[in-house]
Amino acid sequence: MDAMSDKKISKDFGGAAPKVTKTDAIIVGAGPVGLFAVLELGLQGIKAHVVDVLDLPGGQCAELYPDKPIYDIPALPGVTGQELIDKLMGQIAPYDPVFHMGQQAQQLEKTPEGHWRLTTTAGTVLEAPVVIVAAGNGSFVSRKPDVAGIEAFEGTSVFYSVKHKDDFKGKNVVISGGGDSALDWVLALEAAGAHVTLVHRSDTFSATPDSVAKMQALALEGRISRRTGTLAALEGKDGKLDSITIAGKDGKREELPCDALLPFYGLSIKLGPIADWGLNLNRNQVAVDTEKYQTSTPGIFAIGDINSYPGKRRIILSGFHEAALMAHAAYSIVFPGKKPGNAHSSSKPVPDKQKAP
Ligand code: FAD
Repeated sequence: MDAMSDKKISKDFGGAAPKVTKTDAIIVGAGPVGLFAVLELGLQGIKAHVVDVLDLPGGQCAELYPDKPIYDIPALPGVTGQELIDKLMGQIAPYDPVFHMGQQAQQLEKTPEGHWRLTTTAGTVLEAPVVIVAAGNGSFVSRKPDVAGIEAFEGTSVFYSVKHKDDFKGKNVVISGGGDSALDWVLALEAAGAHVTLVHRSDTFSATPDSVAKMQALALEGRISRRTGTLAALEGKDGKLDSITIAGKDGKREELPCDALLPFYGLSIKLGPIADWGLNLNRNQVAVDTEKYQTSTPGIFAIGDINSYPGKRRIILSGFHEAALMAHAAYSIVFPGKKPGNAHSSSKPVPDKQKAP
C-alpha cells in the first residue's frame, strides 16, 4: 500500500473543491536537474508544470554561484552557474513548461483516481499522474533578522524579496544587510525613486567591489543614507511599519522613519514539507531505486541532489542521468498500457522550435 493513508485522502477531499490544474507531470524544484527533467519528459511527450519557492529558476547554480565556472558539464568546457541555467531554459522552452515560482510545494495527496494532487503555499493546486521531486537540499528560505514582532509586519511592510520595485517609489525604505542582494536593491530602489537607508552591522561589505563602490558614491552624493548598526525594534500597527530602531556599535539607539524594511541576510536551506509526504528518507535525502529513480511511493520520483542511493554523487551530471531514466519510467504511468519508444532524441519528433537551424 502507498505511504499515503486512505484516511488522509478522504479527509482532504471532503471540503469545497479547489480550482485544480491537471497536467502530465509536476516537477518540484527548478534547479538544473528539475529544468533538465522538463526536456527529458518533453521528449516522451509528457507536459510538465514546475514549482519553486524561489522567484527565479536555477536552484543552487543561480542562487549560490551564478558567476562561478563549472567545468564538468559535457560539451561545455567552462560555463558559469547562471549561463548553464540560461542555456537550460533556452533548451526546454520549446516544451512550454508552466512555472509556478515564489511558492513552496506544500501538501501532496493521492486522489481517488490514483493521481497526485499538489497544493502550494500560494494556493495553486496541480494534479498529475507523476510527481518528480527535484528539490535539491530542500527549499531556500530567507534568513530573518532577530528582532521581536517582525512576523506581524511580514508581507505588508517587511519583505524578503522585491517583486515590483516601483511599489517602493517615494517610500522610506530601510535595506538591511551587506551582501550582493542588499546592495543590488539599494542601487535599484534608489534609481526607482525610493528614499533608501542601508543598515549594516559593520563597515565591511561582502558584495562585489563594483556594487560597494556604487553604493558608496550614492552615499557621498547624499542620495542614500547609511547607518552602521543592527535592527533593534520595529514600531507600527496593523502590519504597517512607521519606524525602526537601530542600535549602533556604541550602544546608541536611533529611530528612523520606515515604510518598508527589506532584510537581506542570505538564504538557508530546509527540507520542509517534503519530509511529511510519507516518502522513505535516508537522513534528509529521499531514498530511490537506481532503475527508475522512483521513491518508496509509486508515481513519485526523486532526482538530483535530493535523492539517495548507494554511490550517489551530488553533481549535476548525476541528476541529468537520473532525469533521463525517470522520464522513461514515467511514460508508462502517464500513458498506461503504452511503452516508451526509441531512446534517442535524434530519432524523436521534437518541436520545430528545437530543431537545428
Ligand atoms: P538545486 O540546484 O538545489 O535546486 C533545487 C530547487 O528546488 C531549489 O531552487 C529550491 O528552491 C527548490 N525547492 C526545494 N524544495 C521545494 C519545495 N518544497 N517547493 C518548491 N521548491 C522547492 N555540481 C557540478 O556538477 N559541478 C560543479 O562544478 C559544481 N559546483 C558547485 C559549486 C557550489 C558553490 C555549490 C554550492 C554546488 C556546486 N555543484 C556543482 C553542485 C550542484 O550545484 C548541484 O548538484 C545541483 O545544483 C543540484 O541540482 P538540483 O536541481 O538537484 O537541486
